[in-house]
Amino acid sequence: MNEAIENILQSKDIAPTAMRILVLEYLQKQTAAVNLADVEAGFAQADRITIYRTLKTFEEKGLIHSINDGTESTKYALCAEACKAGDHYDLHLHFFCIKCRQTYCLPKHKVPEIDLPAGYQLKELNLVAKGICDQCT
Ligand SMILES: [Zn+2]
Ligand SMILES: [Zn+2]
Ligand SMILES: [Zn+2]
Repeated sequence: MNEAIENILQSKDIAPTAMRILVLEYLQKQTAAVNLADVEAGFAQADRITIYRTLKTFEEKGLIHSINDGTESTKYALCAEACKAGDHYDLHLHFFCIKCRQTYCLPKHKVPEIDLPAGYQLKELNLVAKGICDQCT
């Protein structure tokens, strides 16, 4: 058992089941965001529903965030530590590479500040830049 992984799960109030530990380990190894099919391919022995539920729990608890990059499937990536259950602070740019079709989090690049009318509260902003990543140029 990986104690560091267990601690991360517990800090987000997620009971560390074997499956959750494995999925988090998998997510930590990724350099780009992954979709459900990617995670499934990494776990031949687990069924799709279990993996889907695991990702949903992670998202609800503020461990991962989902990204809609314009491809047909939602992608997921690990959050910054500031995220918590029901409250995500992933206001960074996402970059979709049109060559390798991977989506990357750019946590150091914040999305530009958005002016909203009084009374509107920003919770999420999905901004995906498209182009060619540093691996493909
Ligand atoms: Zn988040
Ligand atoms: Zn690329
Ligand atoms: Zn991200």
